[in-house]
Amino acid sequence: MMQEKDSMFEQMTARGHDRLCFHHDKETGLRAIVAIHSTALGNALGGTRRWYYESEDDAVYDVLRLSKGMTYKAAISGLPMGGAKSVIMMPHREFGRTEAEARAMGRFVDTFNGAYIAAEDVGVDTQFIDWMAHETNHVMGGETVSRGGDPSPWTALGVFHGMRACLLQAGLGEDFVGKTVALQGVGHVGQNLCKLLHGAGAKLIVADINKTNLDTAVDEFGATVAHVDDILKAECDILAPCALGGVIDGNMVEHLRCPIVCGAANNILDDPEEDAVALKTAGIVYGTDFVVNAGGLIHLAGMHLGMTDDELVCKNDEIFTTTQQILELTEHSASSYAAAVEIAEQRIANGQGLSVHAS
Ligand code: NAD
Repeated sequence: MMQEKDSMFEQMTARGHDRLCFHHDKETGLRAIVAIHSTALGNALGGTRRWYYESEDDAVYDVLRLSKGMTYKAAISGLPMGGAKSVIMMPHREFGRTEAEARAMGRFVDTFNGAYIAAEDVGVDTQFIDWMAHETNHVMGGETVSRGGDPSPWTALGVFHGMRACLLQAGLGEDFVGKTVALQGVGHVGQNLCKLLHGAGAKLIVADINKTNLDTAVDEFGATVAHVDDILKAECDILAPCALGGVIDGNMVEHLRCPIVCGAANNILDDPEEDAVALKTAGIVYGTDFVVNAGGLIHLAGMHLGMTDDELVCKNDEIFTTTQQILELTEHSASSYAAAVEIAEQRIANGQGLSVHAS
Protein backbone atom coordinates (compact mmCIF):
# COMPACT_ATOMS: atom_id res chain seq x y z
CA MET A 1 0.00 0.00 0.00
CA MET A 2 1.27 3.46 -0.84
CA GLN A 3 2.55 5.44 2.13
CA GLU A 4 0.49 8.56 2.78
CA LYS A 5 2.57 11.65 2.23
CA ASP A 6 2.06 15.39 2.25
CA SER A 7 0.66 16.80 -1.00
CA MET A 8 2.69 19.34 -2.97
CA PHE A 9 0.53 22.15 -1.59
CA GLU A 10 0.94 20.89 1.96
CA GLN A 11 4.72 20.84 1.50
CA MET A 12 4.69 24.33 0.00
CA THR A 13 2.45 25.67 2.75
CA ALA A 14 4.55 24.09 5.48
CA ARG A 15 7.66 25.88 4.20
CA GLY A 16 5.88 29.07 3.12
CA HIS A 17 6.55 28.84 -0.63
CA ASP A 18 5.08 31.14 -3.26
CA ARG A 19 5.54 28.98 -6.36
CA LEU A 20 6.63 25.49 -7.38
CA CYS A 21 6.88 25.08 -11.15
CA PHE A 22 7.60 21.96 -13.21
CA HIS A 23 8.85 21.88 -16.76
CA HIS A 24 9.31 19.17 -19.36
CA ASP A 25 11.03 20.08 -22.62
CA LYS A 26 9.81 17.79 -25.38
CA GLU A 27 12.89 18.14 -27.61
CA THR A 28 15.60 17.46 -25.06
CA GLY A 29 13.65 15.55 -22.43
CA LEU A 30 14.73 18.10 -19.79
CA ARG A 31 12.82 17.74 -16.53
CA ALA A 32 13.31 20.69 -14.23
CA ILE A 33 11.69 22.33 -11.23
CA VAL A 34 11.88 25.95 -10.09
CA ALA A 35 10.83 26.75 -6.52
CA ILE A 36 10.33 30.39 -5.60
CA HIS A 37 10.10 30.58 -1.84
CA SER A 38 9.72 34.31 -1.44
CA THR A 39 10.02 37.57 -3.36
CA ALA A 40 9.09 39.68 -0.33
CA LEU A 41 12.46 41.48 -0.40
CA GLY A 42 12.94 41.42 -4.18
CA ASN A 43 13.54 39.12 -7.13
CA ALA A 44 15.17 35.84 -6.19
CA LEU A 45 18.61 34.60 -7.26
CA GLY A 46 19.44 30.96 -6.65
CA GLY A 47 21.50 28.23 -8.26
CA THR A 48 20.42 25.46 -10.59
CA ARG A 49 21.36 22.03 -9.24
CA ARG A 50 21.87 19.31 -11.84
CA TRP A 51 21.57 15.99 -10.07
CA TYR A 52 20.33 12.41 -10.34
CA TYR A 53 17.40 12.00 -7.91
CA GLU A 54 16.07 8.58 -7.01
CA SER A 55 12.52 9.96 -7.17
CA GLU A 56 10.52 13.08 -8.00
CA ASP A 57 9.74 13.39 -4.31
CA ASP A 58 13.46 13.66 -3.56
CA ALA A 59 13.84 16.41 -6.16
CA VAL A 60 10.88 18.35 -4.77
CA TYR A 61 12.18 17.97 -1.21
CA ASP A 62 15.61 19.24 -2.28
CA VAL A 63 14.37 22.25 -4.24
CA LEU A 64 11.92 23.28 -1.50
CA ARG A 65 14.58 23.11 1.22
CA LEU A 66 17.22 24.83 -0.89
CA SER A 67 14.96 27.69 -2.01
CA LYS A 68 13.81 28.46 1.53
CA GLY A 69 17.47 28.57 2.56
CA MET A 70 18.08 31.16 -0.17
CA THR A 71 15.40 33.44 1.29
CA TYR A 72 17.16 33.32 4.66
CA LYS A 73 20.58 33.69 3.03
CA ALA A 74 19.62 36.84 1.16
CA ALA A 75 17.87 38.37 4.18
CA ILE A 76 20.67 37.64 6.66
CA SER A 77 23.20 39.04 4.18
CA GLY A 78 21.30 42.30 3.92
CA LEU A 79 20.45 41.86 0.25
CA PRO A 80 17.16 43.15 -1.19
CA MET A 81 16.53 39.76 -2.81
CA GLY A 82 14.12 36.90 -2.33
CA GLY A 83 14.82 33.17 -2.31
CA ALA A 84 14.55 30.60 -5.09
CA LYS A 85 16.35 27.60 -6.49
CA SER A 86 15.97 25.15 -9.35
CA VAL A 87 16.85 21.53 -9.99
CA ILE A 88 17.38 19.58 -13.18
CA MET A 89 16.53 15.91 -12.77
CA MET A 90 19.18 13.92 -14.63
CA PRO A 91 17.82 10.70 -16.20
CA HIS A 92 20.79 8.76 -14.80
CA ARG A 93 23.97 9.45 -12.85
CA GLU A 94 26.36 9.64 -15.82
CA PHE A 95 24.11 11.74 -18.08
CA GLY A 96 26.39 14.27 -19.79
CA ARG A 97 25.38 17.91 -20.05
CA THR A 98 24.60 19.41 -23.46
CA GLU A 99 24.08 22.88 -24.85
CA ALA A 100 20.55 21.90 -25.92
CA GLU A 101 19.68 20.92 -22.34
CA ALA A 102 21.13 24.16 -20.95
CA ARG A 103 19.26 26.24 -23.52
CA ALA A 104 16.01 24.46 -22.67
CA MET A 105 16.64 25.31 -19.01
CA GLY A 106 17.37 28.90 -20.02
CA ARG A 107 14.00 29.13 -21.79
CA PHE A 108 12.27 27.79 -18.66
CA VAL A 109 14.04 30.37 -16.47
CA ASP A 110 13.03 33.10 -18.93
CA THR A 111 9.33 32.38 -18.32
CA PHE A 112 9.70 33.90 -14.82
CA ASN A 113 10.51 37.34 -16.32
CA GLY A 114 13.26 38.01 -13.78
CA ALA A 115 11.40 36.97 -10.61
CA TYR A 116 13.84 34.02 -10.67
CA ILE A 117 17.50 34.51 -11.63
CA ALA A 118 19.49 31.30 -12.09
CA ALA A 119 23.17 30.66 -11.26
CA GLU A 120 25.57 27.76 -10.56
CA ASP A 121 25.02 25.01 -8.06
CA VAL A 122 26.28 21.43 -7.84
CA GLY A 123 26.57 19.98 -11.37
CA VAL A 124 26.33 23.32 -13.20
CA ASP A 125 29.42 25.22 -14.35
CA THR A 126 30.14 28.53 -16.06
CA GLN A 127 29.80 26.96 -19.53
CA PHE A 128 26.33 25.65 -18.71
CA ILE A 129 25.37 29.12 -17.44
CA ASP A 130 26.62 30.74 -20.64
CA TRP A 131 24.58 28.29 -22.71
CA MET A 132 21.50 29.17 -20.63
CA ALA A 133 22.26 32.84 -21.15
CA HIS A 134 21.67 32.45 -24.91
CA GLU A 135 18.00 32.06 -24.02
CA THR A 136 17.51 34.39 -21.04
CA ASN A 137 18.96 37.52 -19.47
CA HIS A 138 17.95 36.24 -16.05
CA VAL A 139 21.03 34.21 -15.27
CA MET A 140 24.30 35.09 -13.51
CA GLY A 141 27.65 33.34 -13.17
CA GLY A 142 28.84 32.86 -16.74
CA GLU A 143 32.05 34.08 -18.32
CA THR A 144 31.14 35.06 -21.87
CA VAL A 145 27.41 35.53 -22.52
CA SER A 146 26.47 35.98 -18.85
CA ARG A 147 28.64 37.66 -16.18
CA GLY A 148 29.90 37.09 -12.67
CA GLY A 149 31.90 33.91 -13.23
CA ASP A 150 32.26 30.98 -10.86
CA PRO A 151 31.00 32.13 -7.42
CA SER A 152 32.81 29.40 -5.45
CA PRO A 153 35.97 31.42 -4.57
CA TRP A 154 33.67 34.01 -2.99
CA THR A 155 31.71 31.36 -1.17
CA ALA A 156 34.96 29.91 0.18
CA LEU A 157 36.12 33.35 1.34
CA GLY A 158 32.85 33.87 3.21
CA VAL A 159 33.14 30.47 4.90
CA PHE A 160 36.70 31.38 5.89
CA HIS A 161 35.38 34.59 7.54
CA GLY A 162 32.66 32.56 9.26
CA MET A 163 35.27 30.11 10.56
CA ARG A 164 37.27 32.99 12.09
CA ALA A 165 34.20 34.12 14.01
CA CYS A 166 33.56 30.53 15.17
CA LEU A 167 37.17 30.14 16.37
CA LEU A 168 36.81 33.29 18.47
CA GLN A 169 33.49 32.14 19.91
CA ALA A 170 35.02 28.77 20.83
CA GLY A 171 37.85 30.58 22.63
CA LEU A 172 40.48 29.36 20.16
CA GLY A 173 41.68 32.75 18.92
CA GLU A 174 41.22 33.93 15.34
CA ASP A 175 44.38 32.39 14.01
CA PHE A 176 44.49 29.27 11.82
CA VAL A 177 48.15 28.45 12.45
CA GLY A 178 48.35 24.94 13.89
CA LYS A 179 44.58 24.44 13.66
CA THR A 180 43.21 21.35 11.93
CA VAL A 181 40.27 21.63 9.55
CA ALA A 182 38.50 18.54 8.20
CA LEU A 183 36.73 19.04 4.88
CA GLN A 184 34.05 16.71 3.55
CA GLY A 185 34.10 17.44 -0.18
CA VAL A 186 36.84 19.29 -2.01
CA GLY A 187 35.03 20.38 -5.16
CA HIS A 188 34.71 23.99 -6.31
CA VAL A 189 34.24 25.56 -2.88
CA GLY A 190 36.28 22.96 -0.99
CA GLN A 191 39.40 23.52 -3.13
CA ASN A 192 39.20 27.29 -2.73
CA LEU A 193 38.72 26.87 1.00
CA CYS A 194 41.73 24.53 1.19
CA LYS A 195 43.80 27.21 -0.52
CA LEU A 196 42.77 29.91 1.97
CA LEU A 197 43.20 27.65 5.00
CA HIS A 198 46.55 26.28 3.81
CA GLY A 199 47.73 29.85 3.18
CA ALA A 200 46.68 30.78 6.72
CA GLY A 201 48.68 27.91 8.23
CA ALA A 202 45.95 25.33 8.91
CA LYS A 203 46.46 21.58 8.65
CA LEU A 204 43.91 19.89 6.41
CA ILE A 205 42.15 16.53 6.47
CA VAL A 206 40.05 15.86 3.39
CA ALA A 207 37.66 13.25 2.02
CA ASP A 208 35.97 13.10 -1.36
CA ILE A 209 34.45 10.45 -3.61
CA ASN A 210 36.20 12.13 -6.56
CA LYS A 211 39.83 10.99 -6.70
CA THR A 212 41.00 13.86 -8.93
CA ASN A 213 39.72 16.44 -6.46
CA LEU A 214 41.26 14.54 -3.58
CA ASP A 215 44.65 14.35 -5.31
CA THR A 216 44.62 18.11 -5.96
CA ALA A 217 44.04 18.82 -2.25
CA VAL A 218 46.90 16.51 -1.32
CA ASP A 219 49.36 17.74 -3.97
CA GLU A 220 48.65 21.46 -3.71
CA PHE A 221 47.76 21.93 -0.06
CA GLY A 222 49.49 19.04 1.71
CA ALA A 223 46.18 17.63 2.92
CA THR A 224 45.89 14.27 4.68
CA VAL A 225 43.20 11.95 3.33
CA ALA A 226 40.46 10.39 5.46
CA HIS A 227 37.97 7.77 4.30
CA VAL A 228 34.63 9.24 3.25
CA ASP A 229 32.92 7.23 5.99
CA ASP A 230 35.22 8.65 8.68
CA ILE A 231 35.65 12.33 7.81
CA LEU A 232 32.74 13.60 9.93
CA LYS A 233 34.22 11.86 12.97
CA ALA A 234 37.74 13.20 12.40
CA GLU A 235 39.46 14.82 15.36
CA CYS A 236 39.88 18.45 14.35
CA ASP A 237 39.30 22.07 15.37
CA ILE A 238 36.77 22.74 12.60
CA LEU A 239 34.62 20.28 10.71
CA ALA A 240 33.69 21.75 7.32
CA PRO A 241 30.98 19.89 5.38
CA CYS A 242 31.44 21.06 1.79
CA ALA A 243 29.69 18.34 -0.21
CA LEU A 244 25.94 17.77 -0.02
CA GLY A 245 23.37 18.50 2.68
CA GLY A 246 21.79 16.52 5.51
CA VAL A 247 25.09 15.08 6.74
CA ILE A 248 24.70 15.89 10.43
CA ASP A 249 21.77 14.60 12.43
CA GLY A 250 21.14 14.03 16.13
CA ASN A 251 22.99 10.69 16.10
CA MET A 252 26.01 12.07 14.31
CA VAL A 253 26.37 14.92 16.83
CA GLU A 254 27.35 12.35 19.47
CA HIS A 255 30.23 11.16 17.29
CA LEU A 256 31.71 14.54 16.39
CA ARG A 257 35.19 15.22 17.75
CA CYS A 258 35.41 18.94 17.02
CA PRO A 259 34.54 22.16 18.85
CA ILE A 260 33.24 23.81 15.65
CA VAL A 261 31.10 22.88 12.63
CA CYS A 262 31.29 25.43 9.84
CA GLY A 263 31.16 24.56 6.14
CA ALA A 264 29.90 25.54 2.71
CA ALA A 265 27.24 22.91 2.11
CA ASN A 266 23.62 24.00 2.01
CA ASN A 267 21.37 22.32 4.59
CA ILE A 268 24.24 20.74 6.55
CA LEU A 269 21.84 19.73 9.31
CA ASP A 270 19.27 17.06 8.54
CA ASP A 271 16.68 18.67 10.83
CA PRO A 272 18.08 22.16 11.41
CA GLU A 273 15.84 23.11 14.35
CA GLU A 274 16.59 19.96 16.35
CA ASP A 275 20.15 19.25 15.25
CA ALA A 276 21.33 22.81 15.93
CA VAL A 277 20.02 22.48 19.49
CA ALA A 278 21.86 19.15 19.82
CA LEU A 279 25.08 20.88 18.68
CA LYS A 280 24.59 23.68 21.21
CA THR A 281 23.90 21.14 23.97
CA ALA A 282 27.07 19.27 23.03
CA GLY A 283 29.02 22.54 23.34
CA ILE A 284 29.81 22.66 19.62
CA VAL A 285 29.85 26.07 17.92
CA TYR A 286 27.82 25.95 14.70
CA GLY A 287 28.39 28.54 11.96
CA THR A 288 24.91 28.45 10.42
CA ASP A 289 25.16 27.31 6.81
CA PHE A 290 23.05 30.01 5.17
CA VAL A 291 25.03 32.70 7.01
CA VAL A 292 28.57 31.53 6.31
CA ASN A 293 28.07 30.21 2.75
CA ALA A 294 26.47 33.41 1.44
CA GLY A 295 29.62 34.70 -0.30
CA GLY A 296 28.67 33.36 -3.73
CA LEU A 297 25.17 34.81 -3.52
CA ILE A 298 26.56 38.12 -2.29
CA HIS A 299 28.94 38.23 -5.27
CA LEU A 300 26.42 37.39 -8.00
CA ALA A 301 23.41 39.17 -6.48
CA GLY A 302 25.60 42.15 -5.62
CA MET A 303 26.78 42.40 -9.25
CA HIS A 304 23.19 42.01 -10.41
CA LEU A 305 22.19 44.89 -8.10
CA GLY A 306 25.03 47.08 -9.44
CA MET A 307 27.41 47.05 -6.43
CA THR A 308 30.99 48.15 -7.02
CA ASP A 309 33.96 45.78 -6.53
CA ASP A 310 34.77 47.47 -3.19
CA GLU A 311 31.19 47.11 -2.01
CA LEU A 312 31.23 43.43 -2.94
CA VAL A 313 34.39 42.82 -0.91
CA CYS A 314 32.99 44.71 2.11
CA LYS A 315 29.75 42.76 1.93
CA ASN A 316 31.68 39.47 1.92
CA ASP A 317 33.77 40.68 4.89
CA GLU A 318 30.52 41.31 6.76
CA ILE A 319 30.04 37.54 7.02
CA PHE A 320 32.56 37.68 9.88
CA THR A 321 30.60 40.23 11.93
CA THR A 322 27.23 38.71 11.05
CA THR A 323 28.39 35.27 12.20
CA GLN A 324 29.89 36.80 15.33
CA GLN A 325 26.67 38.65 16.20
CA ILE A 326 24.57 35.54 15.68
CA LEU A 327 26.90 33.42 17.82
CA GLU A 328 26.66 36.01 20.59
CA LEU A 329 22.85 35.94 20.38
CA THR A 330 22.92 32.12 20.58
CA GLU A 331 23.43 32.36 24.33
CA HIS A 332 19.82 33.57 24.67
CA SER A 333 18.42 31.51 21.83
CA ALA A 334 17.68 27.80 21.29
CA SER A 335 20.61 27.56 18.86
CA SER A 336 22.70 29.57 16.42
CA TYR A 337 20.36 28.41 13.64
CA ALA A 338 17.33 29.69 15.60
CA ALA A 339 19.05 33.03 16.23
CA ALA A 340 19.88 33.43 12.52
CA VAL A 341 16.37 32.46 11.41
CA GLU A 342 14.84 34.93 13.85
CA ILE A 343 16.83 37.83 12.41
CA ALA A 344 16.15 36.76 8.81
CA GLU A 345 12.40 36.35 9.40
CA GLN A 346 12.17 39.71 11.15
CA ARG A 347 13.77 41.39 8.14
CA ILE A 348 11.45 39.62 5.73
CA ALA A 349 8.40 40.57 7.82
CA ASN A 350 9.59 44.19 7.89
CA GLY A 351 10.34 44.12 4.16
CA GLN A 352 13.93 45.10 4.83
CA GLY A 353 16.93 44.01 2.80
CA LEU A 354 19.26 45.90 5.10
CA SER A 355 22.68 45.26 6.53
CA VAL A 356 22.78 43.30 9.77
CA HIS A 357 24.40 46.30 11.43
CA ALA A 358 21.27 48.34 10.92
CA SER A 359 19.00 46.10 13.00
P1 NAD B 1 31.03 20.61 -6.23
O1 NAD B 1 30.12 19.65 -6.91
O2 NAD B 1 32.04 21.32 -7.02
O3 NAD B 1 31.81 19.86 -5.05
C1 NAD B 1 31.22 18.92 -4.22
C2 NAD B 1 32.31 17.89 -3.90
O4 NAD B 1 31.78 16.98 -2.92
C3 NAD B 1 32.73 17.05 -5.11
O5 NAD B 1 34.13 16.99 -5.21
C4 NAD B 1 32.12 15.68 -4.82
O6 NAD B 1 32.86 14.62 -5.36
C5 NAD B 1 32.15 15.68 -3.30
N1 NAD B 1 31.25 14.72 -2.67
C6 NAD B 1 29.98 14.39 -3.04
N2 NAD B 1 29.49 13.46 -2.19
C7 NAD B 1 30.45 13.23 -1.27
C8 NAD B 1 30.56 12.39 -0.13
N3 NAD B 1 29.57 11.60 0.24
N4 NAD B 1 31.70 12.42 0.60
C9 NAD B 1 32.72 13.21 0.25
N5 NAD B 1 32.70 14.01 -0.84
C10 NAD B 1 31.58 14.02 -1.57
O7 NAD B 1 30.07 21.62 -5.43
P2 NAD B 1 30.47 23.02 -4.80
O8 NAD B 1 30.08 24.09 -5.74
O9 NAD B 1 31.84 22.96 -4.26
O10 NAD B 1 29.41 23.09 -3.61
C11 NAD B 1 29.60 22.31 -2.43
C12 NAD B 1 28.44 22.57 -1.47
O11 NAD B 1 28.41 23.96 -1.13
C13 NAD B 1 27.05 22.23 -2.01
O12 NAD B 1 26.24 21.80 -0.95
C14 NAD B 1 26.55 23.58 -2.51
O13 NAD B 1 25.14 23.64 -2.54
C15 NAD B 1 27.12 24.50 -1.45
N6 NAD B 1 27.29 25.86 -1.90
C16 NAD B 1 28.05 26.13 -2.98
C17 NAD B 1 28.21 27.44 -3.39
C18 NAD B 1 29.09 27.80 -4.56
O14 NAD B 1 29.42 28.97 -4.72
N7 NAD B 1 29.47 26.85 -5.39
C19 NAD B 1 27.57 28.48 -2.69
C20 NAD B 1 26.82 28.16 -1.54
C21 NAD B 1 26.68 26.84 -1.17
